[in-house]
Order: sequence, then structure tokens, then C-alpha cells
Amino acid sequence: MKYPNETKGSEVEEPETEERTCPSCGMAEPEWTANQGRGFARDEQSYCCQGCAEGTGCTCKEDQDE
Ligand SMILES: [Zn+2]
Ligand SMILES: [Zn+2]
Repeated sequence: MKYPNETKGSEVEEPETEERTCPSCGMAEPEWTANQGRGFARDEQSYCCQGCAEGTGCTCKEDQDE
């Protein structure tokens, strides 16, 4: 017997997440540093910073002493 691929009891198909996250590192939009928090737009996506947009690594936390 095959089981249908559907979820019971809850509607998971429409996430109500209006808060965006960086598709690269997953950082929540309020924490983005590019463009004064608006994010860095690239390829119709918005990233937290230019580093994530270009795939060179997130630089949002770079300010920390390390
Ligand atoms: Zn990011
Ligand atoms: Zn970043």
C-alpha cells in the first residue's frame, strides 16, 4: 500500500512567514546589515549582505572582535 503524501490536520502548505530570511545563511531580515537593513538584492532574491549575495560568506557579524 502506498501512503498519499499529504499532511493531516494542519495546513502547512501556506506558510504565513512575512518575515524574510537570507536564502544563503538564513539570517532573519531584522538582522540584515546591507542597505540599512533592507538587504542586498541579487537575482530577484534579497540577501542579508553582499557577502551572502555573492557567495563569499556572510559579513554581518564581522564587526565582532575575533
Ligand atoms: Zn546571509
Ligand atoms: Zn550577512
